[in-house]
Amino acid sequence: MHLTTRQLFISQVVLLAGSALPALAASENVSLAYIARLYSMGSSTSGKKVVMKNKWNTIEVETNSRRAWINGIMVWLHHPCRKSGSGWAIREVDFKKGIDPIMRAYAHVPTRTPRLVMLDPGHGGKDAGAVSPRKVYEKLAVLSIAKRVKAHLEAKQVTVQLTRSSDTFIPLRQRSEIAAKAGADLFVSIHADGADDSSANGVETFVMTAAGCDSSNHYGQGGDKSPGRGNQYDAANAVLGFSIQSNLIKTSKRSDRGLRRARFSVLKHAPCPGALVECGFLTNPEEEALMIDANYRETVARGISNGILGYITFVNRARK
Ligand SMILES: [Zn+2]
Repeated sequence: MHLTTRQLFISQVVLLAGSALPALAASENVSLAYIARLYSMGSSTSGKKVVMKNKWNTIEVETNSRRAWINGIMVWLHHPCRKSGSGWAIREVDFKKGIDPIMRAYAHVPTRTPRLVMLDPGHGGKDAGAVSPRKVYEKLAVLSIAKRVKAHLEAKQVTVQLTRSSDTFIPLRQRSEIAAKAGADLFVSIHADGADDSSANGVETFVMTAAGCDSSNHYGQGGDKSPGRGNQYDAANAVLGFSIQSNLIKTSKRSDRGLRRARFSVLKHAPCPGALVECGFLTNPEEEALMIDANYRETVARGISNGILGYITFVNRARK
């Protein structure tokens, strides 16, 4: 595989020099002051946000909220940022499985170059997925996008398989089994959203929720919070998910709903680092029109493939 850094280093995250992580206090809180020190960032407050910044990167954390932004891209935390002593703190799980993997990807990704990427166009056959008012079917739109992502990746000498390449029904559990049997190194499921509220819009990328924590999807919480197979790759999942979301925002210019967490079956049972991307809302008139447009599908496919290639670049850098 010949991948030039200039072509592939799309993510705006600039890697920090590889210094060992100072030991954390036993407390399960990590203060924002500690994080600012660790990344050599200055810290200030702007409205409800604590803004930490150095020459290359910016981390913004909204106080008493689960929302944070890294270089302008929204990242949902598992727990809200809370007051701690005279400052603010996030939970250790959010630092170790969210912020730090994104900031120092090279320290968190597996060092084996991904040889096979499994793309998973959502739904199919009797399962249409979301259906727009003008009868645009999610199952068909995402198949079209997945085939375009495949073409982009293959042009960069990345081997790609699809869980389905036609309009056929595949049960959810079978999708992760297909990836496992093929020996996939990355798994990316591609979907389009639907909501009762037609004003809902934008793109979002999900990765597996950390064990014991709450998800950040709009279907509510509840259910089994025990670890799944996909939790083995928590940190790498965050690297992949952030790379896809930031590249997709850059190409699509749609509103950023953030890197979120959910225990979707395909993420819970993923045999390798995985993410699930929602490319827009079929129930929103503007995005419905975009999903019909081959140019938008191509733009979305370029964003997703750039995100995957960005992850591969991090792996190749981690090996050096
Ligand atoms: Zn779907």
